[in-house]
Amino acid sequence: MRQRKPLVVANWKMNGDQHLVHQVSDSLAALSGALPDILICPPVIFLSNFPKHPNYCLGAQNLSEQPAGAFTGEISAVMLAQAGASHVIVGHSERRTLYGETNSLVAAKVARALAAGLTPVLCVGETAAQRAEEKTFQVLAEQLDAVYSAQPQWLAASVIAYEPLWAIGTGNTATPEQAQQVHAFIRQQLARYDAAAAPDVRILYGGSVNAGNSASLFAQADVDGALVGGASLNATDFVAICLSAKGE
Ligand code: PEP
Repeated sequence: MRQRKPLVVANWKMNGDQHLVHQVSDSLAALSGALPDILICPPVIFLSNFPKHPNYCLGAQNLSEQPAGAFTGEISAVMLAQAGASHVIVGHSERRTLYGETNSLVAAKVARALAAGLTPVLCVGETAAQRAEEKTFQVLAEQLDAVYSAQPQWLAASVIAYEPLWAIGTGNTATPEQAQQVHAFIRQQLARYDAAAAPDVRILYGGSVNAGNSASLFAQADVDGALVGGASLNATDFVAICLSAKGE
């Protein structure tokens, strides 16, 4: 089994303020010892307020699939990179559900992110109904295929986040066994696109991760970190989650 350095991602969604920027950046900067990779994705307006520090990097929660031009309200991948982002979340279920992002739009966004040198954190996941109908693997395969079947070379530069919709913001976390089963399936799928890259791709779990359940999730062989929503808005909780992921 390959060693993959854990990655813990904070997705603030449309939350947070200057105070939280300071709390989180100060708390993370004070950490020492073996840390996971830590990525903070605040609303983009706060990117430039984070002091640069080796303990964390910064990302965005979305990007435009367009390079530039008359697209009011949109932000390009190049702009995000210039604002200090190294990563961008793509295809979060809230974007897919609330803003109609299709698998093909998500693929276009991944392309745009990679062209600007950003690492896409591609979110995939099934609804409660799809799980009940035993369609989880089918849904995930379609979401992954849309991005990587034609462009397998994108895989090596990607992070995947498995985020079952029934677990996001609900307190209904997947069990470690459920997460591992799906992550193993995802890794198997990834090997179909690029067998050499698949063992090194980090697959994060997202969905009601907190300081009390993160360690048992991270103990699973194919859970390489977490995408954390609600619990990332509390600096103490987020630090505890980060510390429960073993660093190098
Ligand atoms: C998310 O926003 O991607 C998420 C997983 O949220 P939460 O941790 O609040 O479930």
